[in-house]
Amino acid sequence: MSAKKAGGYMKKILVYIIALISICFILPAIFTKTTKTITTTEQTETEIQEQPIQGSNTQYSKIKLLHQDTGEVEEVNLEEYLCNVVSAEMPADFELEALKAQATVARTYTIYKVQNKKHDNADICDKSSCCQAWISKEDRLAKWEESKREENWQKIETAVRETVDKIITYDNKPINAFFHSNSGGTTEIPINVWGGTNFPYLQVVETARRRWI
Ligand SMILES: [Zn+2]
Repeated sequence: MSAKKAGGYMKKILVYIIALISICFILPAIFTKTTKTITTTEQTETEIQEQPIQGSNTQYSKIKLLHQDTGEVEEVNLEEYLCNVVSAEMPADFELEALKAQATVARTYTIYKVQNKKHDNADICDKSSCCQAWISKEDRLAKWEESKREENWQKIETAVRETVDKIITYDNKPINAFFHSNSGGTTEIPINVWGGTNFPYLQVVETARRRWI
């Protein structure tokens, strides 16, 4: 073997050794680092997205919602679902305390429905004529003026978050929380309106008159 040929041969061996070191040590280190970074990023993003409405530790943190128009049953986070309900039931420019009352009633009504199912494969549906009004966040935002969207939605989220886990009970059970937009100054006992079963927790009370727009 000539000196030139021997030099070329040595170079080839050196290239193989470098390649081998790369495969054994450098590449695994790069991949491990990359994977860890992606995982951390994903976890952080998930936590940030879910943070505003987290908090419910009850056994009802998830419910099955039936979309009447499509027949689809969707499993949803209870507190997120309540934002959709409250934003469908009450104007966002109402007082925060009114929205909090609505959120509490909506949560109570939802859990009552979970325990007293009306639908075979779902806990509740999205129609006010059957169960409780619901609107998707996307549709809700589209109906508000663009300049008000973020502020309105944050107010709804605040109302839900500040009442998290709160429900109205009677005899240690959630009440059937009916609600109305205007009582005309006083409420009526259900048996005088619908007949049938009366509800001991729904009595005649005077309420403040307010003109609803
Ligand atoms: Zn229904």
